[in-house]
Order: sequence, then structure tokens, then C-alpha cells
Amino acid sequence: MSSKIKNINILGVTGSVGRCAVDVLLSAPGKFDVQCVTAHNNVNELAELALKLNATSAVIGNPELYKNLKEALIGTKIKAAAGPEALLEAAATKVDLSLVAIVGMAGLRPTIAAIQNSKAVAIANKEPLAAAGPLVMREVKKSGAVILPVDSEHNAIFQVFDFENREGIKKIILTASGGPFRTWTLDQMSRATKEQALTHPNWSMGPKITIDSATMMNKALEIIEAHYLFEMPPEQIEVLIHPQSVVHSMVEYKDGSVLAQMGASDMRTPIAHTLAWPSRIQTPGKTLDWTKLKELTFEQPDNARFPALNLAYKVLKAGPYACVALNAANEVAVESFLSKKSAFLDIISIIEGALSRISPQVLEKIEDFEEFDRIARDLARSYINDEKTKKALS
Ligand code: NAD
Ligand code: MG
Repeated sequence: MSSKIKNINILGVTGSVGRCAVDVLLSAPGKFDVQCVTAHNNVNELAELALKLNATSAVIGNPELYKNLKEALIGTKIKAAAGPEALLEAAATKVDLSLVAIVGMAGLRPTIAAIQNSKAVAIANKEPLAAAGPLVMREVKKSGAVILPVDSEHNAIFQVFDFENREGIKKIILTASGGPFRTWTLDQMSRATKEQALTHPNWSMGPKITIDSATMMNKALEIIEAHYLFEMPPEQIEVLIHPQSVVHSMVEYKDGSVLAQMGASDMRTPIAHTLAWPSRIQTPGKTLDWTKLKELTFEQPDNARFPALNLAYKVLKAGPYACVALNAANEVAVESFLSKKSAFLDIISIIEGALSRISPQVLEKIEDFEEFDRIARDLARSYINDEKTKKALS
């Protein structure tokens, strides 16, 4: 697999991860043959990237944009398609490797289609793993596809995790930058604006994950993601704040050895690792300059200011239905904050409010997960409305 040209699909090519992947692919000529590229709404950028990558087909999720895509691709050999069915068909194309870089639970069906039809799947799209981990991992076991984590922490762990001797592992340590509000008081956070929350100190990412980093819900989703990806019990997964974002995560072994993966805070490194795996390729990204590294510091997270982390352990203990609800309520809450309908600290209150209103459910099939995701979203929305009514009345 390492020497031959890889067929590859990129789902969510216009996003932050997608565009980093395009950079990596363009700097590795002759190594990849791009089949399908997809996006949701950004039709002009989709066409432009499809052309740059010389893709076989481009699919836009929003069916109303079919004409625009067709027009943008006139005079090229690139096939155009639109709509959720076409997107799923693209995800189900038989390829060597799929990169899933869609944001949110919307990526669940495409992720599963990719797992069923690709030899390897590079997963950036963490929400389906966090919300429907048992379902996703069941499909991985059934299909035998290799899962390559793109999320920088999980990619780091993947690189230093001794899969042959997992009984020798004491714990995995996920590092977290702490986000833009690492040193802020709760009072300051209560007044945090959208613009402040969207200014991440170390990473340049899409809006949803940037807000998740500010609440540390990103790390909460990553605890759950790590639990399913590495089959590690929650009590063997720890989080440490590491503001420099140089150590991307670590595995501590029983004998006291700690293996860490390090690098610049540039997503092109983990993306290149997954695209080239099991080989290594040159990336166009930043590299570490050791002489400029002044310090590497680590501290315990503050659970009072960032209650998201405890919520992750709580939902893992409760079961998969609670993980679905956590993710769904978070997606609703982040959307509400980004559209300036809720305050920053409301995000966690909305999630806690939704979690307090759910009752346990057994989820097995994909439809069960989707239905419970819909219920949890409705509960989060009704919590937002009830709080607004309460405020208006007081
Ligand atoms: P983004 O918002 O920049 O891009 C999202 C992509 O998904 C776009 O191409 C968009 O067209 C597509 N998309 C959006 N909604 C869709 C829908 N309903 N159906 C199909 N496609 C849809 O997001 P991003 O920052 O690139 O993040 C993508 C995923 O990777 C997220 O799950 C995020 O948590 C994860 N991730 C991102 C980073 C990062 O550096 N950005 C790092 C680690 C993990
Ligand atoms: Mg991460």
C-alpha cells in the first residue's frame, strides 16, 4: 500500500482540515489520485479545489447549488452532483483512503459509508465518534478498515500507543491548550464575545471546534473519542493543560516510560501522517524550532471554570445515549452562541439542561442514534426557550 498511488476521497474539502489536506496533497505530486471531493454550501471553493486536485467528481451537499456547481465546472472533466444522497454515494466510493473532514453529527452516515467502502479512513470528524462511538467502531470491526485519527491528540496517541502490548499501558494523557479563556475568571467568561471566543491562541480551525476549544467541550469530546478509538476505560484517560501545544498527547506505560508525540501546532502534520500512513511524506507545514521553545508547561485543568471535562466522564458512565445527548446539545448550544442568541457560559448550561431532561435509551441501529440525536436537539432548544421565557418574566 505504501508505494502505489493511493485513491482518495475528501469529504468536507472546503473546511479548515479539508484545505490543510489539499495543501498536503498538492505538495506530494504523484502519490495520490483524488476521486471525490465534497462540501456542504461553499460551491465556488469546492469547484476550485476539485480543479486544483484534478478530482474525478465534486459533490455539493446542498441540492439547490447543483446548477452553480455544474456551471463552475464547465469545460472540465470533473463530474458534478448534489444532495445528501449524492454525498453518501461519494462517501461510499471504493477507495484506498477516505478523509472525513465534515463537521458535526452530519458526518455520521458519510463516516459509516467510508468505513464500509475504504481500505483506510482518516477521521477528523470527531462528533460521530463521540456521539455514536459503539456504532462507528462496530462498523470498523465488521469492515476491517484501518482507522487513522486526524485529531492531533489522537494522532499523537496513535503514533506512540503500543497496540501489541496494551496491558503495559497505564494511561493516556490528552493535552489541551486551554483555549482563549484559560486564564479568564468566570466573571470575565460570562461577558465573552463571539469574536473573543473565536480567537484561538495556537490553532487556526473552523468556527465550531474553535468555540468547543473555548468551553473545553472539545477536550470532552476528545476524551470520549479516545475511549472508543483506543478502547481505553475513562479512568485511564487524563487531561493536562499544556498552553504551548507542542506535546500533542502522551501514553504513560506501567514501567514509568512516557511516550509523547511532538510537533508544531499545524494540522498539516497529523493530516500528512494519516494520508501517507504507513509511510511518511514531506509536509508544507510548520516544523518545531527547538531553539525558540522557551518552556513546556503542564497544569491540571480547572473543573470549576471548565465543567465540560467532568461532563465527558459523566456521560461515558451513563452510557451511549448520554454521549449522543451531550454532543447534540453542544451542537445546538454552539450554534445559538455563534448566532448571538446565547451567552458564552450558556453553552454549558444548555448542555446540562438537556442532559437533565433525557431518559436512558438503548441505542443499537444508526436510526436509533439519529432519532435520539434529534430528541436531544429538541430538548436543548426547548431548554433555551424556557430559559428565555424565565428571564423575560423575571
Ligand atoms: P469547518 O467548519 O472548517 O469545515 C467543515 C466541512 O464540512 C466543510 O467542508 C463543509 O462544507 C462540510 N460540511 C459542513 N456541514 C456539512 C453537512 N451538513 N454535510 C456535509 N458536509 C458538511 O470544520 P473543520 O474545522 O475543518 O473541522 C472538521 C472536523 O474536524 C470537525 O469535526 C472538527 O472537530 C475536526 N477537527 C478539526 C481540527 C481543525 O484544526 N480544524 C482539528 C481537529 C479536529
Ligand atoms: Mg484535537
